[in-house]
Amino acid sequence: MNENKTLYIVVPCYKEQEVLPETSKRLKKKLLDLIADGRVSEKSRIMFVNDGSSDNTWPMIAQLHEQEPEIFSGVNLSRNKGHQNAVLAGMLTAVNYADMIITMDADLQDDINAVDGMVDAYHEGYEVVYGVRSKRDTDTFFKRFTAEGFYKVMKALGVDIVFNHADYRLMSRRAVEGLAQFTEVNLFLRGIVPQIGYKWTTVTYERAERFAGESKYPLKKMLAFAADGITSFSVKPIRMVFTIGVVIFAVSLVMLLYALISKILGYAHAGWTSLMGSIWLIGGIQLLSLGVVGEYIGKIYNETKRRPRFIIESVLNKE
Ligand code: UDP
Ligand code: MG
Repeated sequence: MNENKTLYIVVPCYKEQEVLPETSKRLKKKLLDLIADGRVSEKSRIMFVNDGSSDNTWPMIAQLHEQEPEIFSGVNLSRNKGHQNAVLAGMLTAVNYADMIITMDADLQDDINAVDGMVDAYHEGYEVVYGVRSKRDTDTFFKRFTAEGFYKVMKALGVDIVFNHADYRLMSRRAVEGLAQFTEVNLFLRGIVPQIGYKWTTVTYERAERFAGESKYPLKKMLAFAADGITSFSVKPIRMVFTIGVVIFAVSLVMLLYALISKILGYAHAGWTSLMGSIWLIGGIQLLSLGVVGEYIGKIYNETKRRPRFIIESVLNKE
């Protein structure tokens, strides 16, 4: 019964000509093993998504498809749209053909052998299987520090994400169809996928070093990515402005009292009391008002994202 389930492995590629030959070789072997074991159907494919690379990436993908169309597929984006969009483009294309979709990076940092565990979990009935890094020995201290700090900040801000999970995961067709209902433009998949729900589990793997080439995620992109993640899923920063406003307002009352007492006791120069009082009071009121306006902007923001209000897993009903 397992044989008829089709797996698509979606791999975003941005200027990956150095790693593609090795990646395609290893993925092909993995796919053929899975097919030989009868764990996935013969219609399963490896789908490379070219994210507007200026190098030889797309010609290489096209050639792979030409030589072995029953193993390799390709999707070519019109221009560079970033990792998250490339992954989504691949998934939404693959969902037309696949029962389950695995996404992984092209640089072989994600252990390909974790695919087996993911496929097994799918057959056990899990709809989302997150690949989780067991350790980060191979990352530089800086990368590890910033990345782990990021997960912690996200947690603190109340965003539901899986710790140390990058975008290496399996999703069932149903889960990807759920994902397709999230129409937001600022895509942060790690935050969205847990929102879809369904039965999920994790598979741990050791993250390796990049096989070749260099990281396409320099600090600037990493920061933008983190900011996207936070602002797309949390209105807590706005609440903080409000809280600061309340605090400053309270302080202003104390300062007002202090200025008045100084005046009464005769310590204060002329004009000082009124200056002191108004600076604090106005500052407090301004921050409070910003917080209030921010609350509404947060609401507007959430509305404009038009996230699905629910996704039904099953219905029991007798007519
Ligand atoms: N990638 C992409 N578009 C981009 C940047 C990266 O499709 O604009 C792909 C890249 O080819 C790789 C994956 O996203 O398959 C992860 O990128 P990278 O390995 O450079 O990030 P890191 O592992 O250093 O965080
Ligand atoms: Mg990488």
